[in-house]
Amino acid sequence: MDSLQDLVDHCWQTVRTAPPDGRQVSYIPALARVPADQLGIAVAGVDGSMVTAGDSSTPFSLQSISKLFALCEALSAGPEQLWARLDKEPSGDRFDSLMLLEHEAGRPRNPFINAGALLVTDHLRTVRGDAAEVVLELVRREAGNAGIAVDEEVAASERAMSHRNAALAHYMASCGTVDPDVPAVLDQYTRMCAVAASCEDMAKAALFLARAGQGVDGPVLSAAETRRVNALMLTCGLYDAAGDFAYRVGLPGKSGVGGGVLAVVPGQCVVAVWSPRLDARGNSVGGVRLLEELVRHTDWSVF
Ligand code: GLN
Repeated sequence: MDSLQDLVDHCWQTVRTAPPDGRQVSYIPALARVPADQLGIAVAGVDGSMVTAGDSSTPFSLQSISKLFALCEALSAGPEQLWARLDKEPSGDRFDSLMLLEHEAGRPRNPFINAGALLVTDHLRTVRGDAAEVVLELVRREAGNAGIAVDEEVAASERAMSHRNAALAHYMASCGTVDPDVPAVLDQYTRMCAVAASCEDMAKAALFLARAGQGVDGPVLSAAETRRVNALMLTCGLYDAAGDFAYRVGLPGKSGVGGGVLAVVPGQCVVAVWSPRLDARGNSVGGVRLLEELVRHTDWSVF
């Protein structure tokens, strides 16, 4: 193939024509209404280039992809304080699992499962004021798009049904690992998850992870912290499918139940893909297929 655009078009076509598989989550009713058969991709290069195909400019709900930006902001406010409160190990369990938390006295395994992200939200509440606003500010600035916003309908739709996340947060509060003001933590967490942005926005917003932490106006993270975030994405970013994703794609990644997946090619580019149908573990079927296809034709895998 002559150019990256040709390759991206080819991979997009290949996945687009495969039979549709998977379905949207039902526990966030507003997300279940998004037309399912959309597929977008954006590749933002460290040289400032942008290559896209399909529904790359349609905003989608970031959901757990927002946890990545929340983690970066919490780390930039002081890694020691954050790591005193949670671990860095894959959970091997569903993103919203309650089981490990009881065994481990309310200390979450990693910042990407819901328990860990609720704790990061609580941490940002304490050190920065409002986790959703902090995430918004970061993605708006790095994407160069002041129009990126919280989809309040999605936020309200999730908040009304957030019984599992409430159970996780209350359990942590009972262990003293999260602030007892659980409703405030849940409000900020669901608004942060409901930030809506397109593949183009996302690829640009996360580009600092491929550029040793350098953002548009200076460092977002140090080079060492950036390597660590990429390591956590690789080991924990797709929850109990992190092993499968490392096997098939071989890149640091972060998924969300809105159907988006971000993948970092250190030193080269960030790829953002989006397709709403999910597999049983809550990861985008078309999005992961598209990344797998792209990596098959390039030397982008970190392995
Ligand atoms: N907001 C979603 C939840 O808390 C995020 C989960 C996800 O994207 N995997 O369940």
